[in-house]
Amino acid sequence: MVPCLREICYNTHMELYELGVREAQEGIAKGEFSCVELTQAVIDRRKAADGEVGAYLTFDEEQALALAKENPKSVPIAIKDLINVRGQPCTCASKILKGYVSPYDATVIANLRAGGFIPAGRVNMDEFAMGSSTENSGLGVTRNPYDLERVPGGSSGGSAAAVGGDLCIAALGTDTGGSIRQPASFCNCVGVKPSYGRVSRYGVTAFASSLDQVGPMTKCVDDAAILLRALAGCDPHDGTSAPDPVPDYLKEIEGASMKGVRIGLPKEYFEVSGLDPEVKRIVEEAVRDCEAAGAELVEISLPHTDYAMAVYYIIAPAEASANLARFDGVRYGHRSAEAKDVYSLYVKSRAEGFGPEVKRRIIMGTYVLSSGYYDAYYGKAQKVRTLIRRDFDEAFAKVDAIISPCAPTPAFKFGANQDPLTMYLNDLYTIPSALAGVCASSVPAGFTAADSLPVGVQFICGGFEEAKLLRVSKAFELMRPRRTLADFRKEKGRLSA
Ligand code: GLN
Repeated sequence: MVPCLREICYNTHMELYELGVREAQEGIAKGEFSCVELTQAVIDRRKAADGEVGAYLTFDEEQALALAKENPKSVPIAIKDLINVRGQPCTCASKILKGYVSPYDATVIANLRAGGFIPAGRVNMDEFAMGSSTENSGLGVTRNPYDLERVPGGSSGGSAAAVGGDLCIAALGTDTGGSIRQPASFCNCVGVKPSYGRVSRYGVTAFASSLDQVGPMTKCVDDAAILLRALAGCDPHDGTSAPDPVPDYLKEIEGASMKGVRIGLPKEYFEVSGLDPEVKRIVEEAVRDCEAAGAELVEISLPHTDYAMAVYYIIAPAEASANLARFDGVRYGHRSAEAKDVYSLYVKSRAEGFGPEVKRRIIMGTYVLSSGYYDAYYGKAQKVRTLIRRDFDEAFAKVDAIISPCAPTPAFKFGANQDPLTMYLNDLYTIPSALAGVCASSVPAGFTAADSLPVGVQFICGGFEEAKLLRVSKAFELMRPRRTLADFRKEKGRLSA
């Protein structure tokens, strides 16, 4: 056990690795411990407990401790393995990038460093962020710290397992169609997908460029507010990053309350047949609690919801097929030893390097972009995407925030969703808002009765309304005091370490 070095301010029993960002910053400011001790606590915790969880792919302890020494007031953050950090591997959990070491920092990493954080440890994910369970990782298995027989969600499953399992202070994830929010829901974390353009994508390995956003995955809403402020901002390296000034989100959420907040209930989201009854119960309770705390409930309609999955699975693979063309065995990573000429070098390197889901997406994407099909699929999908965005515009004329389930089920068992289509349905609730480019969060809402699995609730706000989103999320969190993994373990004895 790592000794707790600090004076008691929150919870006498807390270990350093259990702290969140705000708690860590306050402890450092008071001189109770330094970044070196915090980083060492995370390293020790990883050694003790990550054997069974498998959140991390790699962790350069020496580098992390050296960074901590240079930046004694910083807080270590775990990084999803598709974000470039100078001198660290960046594999996207793909065999095709095994051994690749990044020569530069993504803008989010430069921003983090400037904001008082250090990148420490690379966490697992679905290969190239394609998936909802982290089972598509080409490099390792990650288990849900709340039930080791179940998946942590995905694609930011390593980030969620690390945060939910107290294997880090906080983590960065990315969300293209739900990859921050769904794993956050599965692992009892807060996850925030910023509006498209709020956070720079420069140096973040591209999956679907019109959707990808980096965001915080944390132990509480305050931490998400602190991290988002550090991450966000306009970046000349990313033409889609927005010039809007970045508010001090932590200040913005002071005194957060549900009083007078108009919360929209999209009728299409509650009519879904695959919605798990326990998730439904927890979300309905959440809705009732919001109302009891002074929110005004408004029934709304997002009429094009039914088309969102189809639209996403045209647009995202189309963009992926173009983005992943760069992995050709020439410039990056894996190069086939079997190649006889340039053509077979491309074909064999890609055939050997990519996993089945990535290949499936490349094939789908190439198909929908091919001449003769482009108008019927890609062109049509873009038009429907506009209709989906308008649904949200109309909704946000009437309400401040939308509430919904985050995922239709709690964490499922390994292998339970073998069929890609059932796996895709996991993102039913998160894909429409991703297509609309608005911001959304997942906030822990409760645990299922039978299996004690965490369930998150989703809040969605309009584009660049992160301050409002975080305020509502915080007001909700105040009604659901944080139940740490340590509390959970005491009750359940699930995780041995
Ligand atoms: N699960 C979705 C997919 O497989 C979303 C992934 C993501 O947001 N990166 O595409």
